[in-house]
Amino acid sequence: MFLKKIELYGFKSFANKTILQIDRGVTAIVGPNGSGKSNVIDAIKWVLGEQSVKSLRGSKMEDVIFSGSTNARQKNYAQVILTLDNTNQRLPLDYSEVNISRRYFRDGQSQYFINNTECRLKDIHELFMDTGLGKEAYSIIGQGQVDQILNSRPEERRIIFEEASGIVKYKSKKLDSIKK
Ligand code: ATP
Ligand code: MG
Repeated sequence: MFLKKIELYGFKSFANKTILQIDRGVTAIVGPNGSGKSNVIDAIKWVLGEQSVKSLRGSKMEDVIFSGSTNARQKNYAQVILTLDNTNQRLPLDYSEVNISRRYFRDGQSQYFINNTECRLKDIHELFMDTGLGKEAYSIIGQGQVDQILNSRPEERRIIFEEASGIVKYKSKKLDSIKK
């Protein structure tokens, strides 16, 4: 499984439709300060279901929507679509390519899609559980996070190993059934 394409519209500094095509192997994003490198990472976290505005470097969810510039008007919604190669079927869906999308409007309306079908945030979380790619997983290592992992309490560090060993899904199902 690998990330093939990121499509952004109205997300932070990406006012107009922007498509980033990514190949297998290592990809580096380079550019001057403030050019939007970190915004690309924010976009990935956001589609995977990030709900913490702080983690998205904003103060409210609306901050992810392009707020306008001297030459462009603000947008009414932000949308990000990730396309993942799934030929190895790491995602439990019978498709060789999977699209995940999130849309957020200024009025607070929020939508998620898996392969263009509207779904719940929970479906996105479940899809990525134990794949290493969820928003809580270790596929995105932010600045200072290595120190944070090394300094965390054993119980917190254990979560990373649980994700890597593929048991998060079962723990989550157990919790759900205990609640019911
Ligand atoms: P650095 O090298 O300093 O880390 P960077 O390339 O990571 O920079 P980002 O933090 O991704 O830069 O981008 C910051 C830019 O995004 C700022 O210019 C900011 O004004 C712009 N930006 C963030 N949110 C929005 C928004 N909602 N609407 C318009 N522009 C936005
Ligand atoms: Mg940055």
